[in-house]
Amino acid sequence: MNVKVGNSTFIKNLNQKRIFKLIHKEGPITRKELADNTDYSAGTISNHVKALIDQGFVIETEKGYSSGGRKPVYLTVNPDKGYIISVEVEVTRVKIVLFNLKIKVVAKTVFPINGPAQAKETISQIFSEIEKILSEREIKPDKILGIGVAVPGLIDKEEGLLEFAPNLGWSKVPIVKYFEDKYGVPVVLENEANAAAVGEKEFVYPDIKDMVYVSINEGIGCGLIFNGRLYRGAGGNAGEFGHIIIDSDGPLCHCGNSGCWETLASENHIQKEYQELTGEENVEKNEIYRKAIEGEDRALSVVKQAAHNIGLGLANIVNSLSPRLIVLGGGIIEADTLIIDTVQSILKEKCLLLSYDKVDIEFTRLKDLACLYGLASYVFNKSIDFETKKN
Ligand SMILES: [Zn+2]
Repeated sequence: MNVKVGNSTFIKNLNQKRIFKLIHKEGPITRKELADNTDYSAGTISNHVKALIDQGFVIETEKGYSSGGRKPVYLTVNPDKGYIISVEVEVTRVKIVLFNLKIKVVAKTVFPINGPAQAKETISQIFSEIEKILSEREIKPDKILGIGVAVPGLIDKEEGLLEFAPNLGWSKVPIVKYFEDKYGVPVVLENEANAAAVGEKEFVYPDIKDMVYVSINEGIGCGLIFNGRLYRGAGGNAGEFGHIIIDSDGPLCHCGNSGCWETLASENHIQKEYQELTGEENVEKNEIYRKAIEGEDRALSVVKQAAHNIGLGLANIVNSLSPRLIVLGGGIIEADTLIIDTVQSILKEKCLLLSYDKVDIEFTRLKDLACLYGLASYVFNKSIDFETKKN
């Protein structure tokens, strides 16, 4: 399926793009409401809406009841006009979600990667899974508006390169090029925690301007939203709080330092500690959480100790950034009830009062789809802007 579709079907007219974005965000919405929310006249709205309907991007729908007379006609995005594919590469598995144009999940698949899988092998596996999803739903490849890919590691956004993903064992992988060569659509590469931060921000907390998404899996990654936008920093990889040093005499980290936060608070740490304490090898982390919930002493003490360390790292984040909200995500959410009290009490003890008073701690509402929703949001915006740049 080597096709070059070049996204030529997307909206070319700038005004129509703007109206389409508004219908996407606020729809179902009437023509009058569109005119009230923009500086376009009713006539201009009517012309552009007609064009959007003729091109198949927007459909008319009836909503609610009127108190007499005609029911108002509402406009909404045609969900099947185009699709977005989000791919999240994790350390032990890959998740793929197909979204429709309304950014609703149409299909989801998860498959394992065994051991430190080779990048190329995994990517061709992803391609065949995507083809399976599309053919099962009889969706033609030219309906794909774009693809988002997230990885748990450092990326070079300009080059479309995965620089280094230590827990995955990949480095210097030209991910964007692989996907662009294959599908010929815009491809977005993003760090997993950044994408998840955007997902939570866009779909759960649109009104919160300063928030930090903390993803606790094999390692720890953070996505920073400042003033409503993702903060990347000068080097493009801001948010590596997994490597703030919690205990300089702590375990050696792959980054070369000792006692980094992720060596003391990640799920890898929980597994390692549990193994050392019990001598049991290869116990799944969810198994450890299950035992802890049942009150098994050793499992509980390992998880509580990690929760203490999670709290220490979060206190550093609260004291240095003073976010309005911290969202906890990643595999650790399986242990949410086990860790929250300890985390809260450490924060209360260690945070500066002014910052502590302002911050809320929540677990991700989008669960294990946060990152995939974030990618879909990127791709949606990028595919709209794609033609703008070319024109
Ligand atoms: Zn480190």
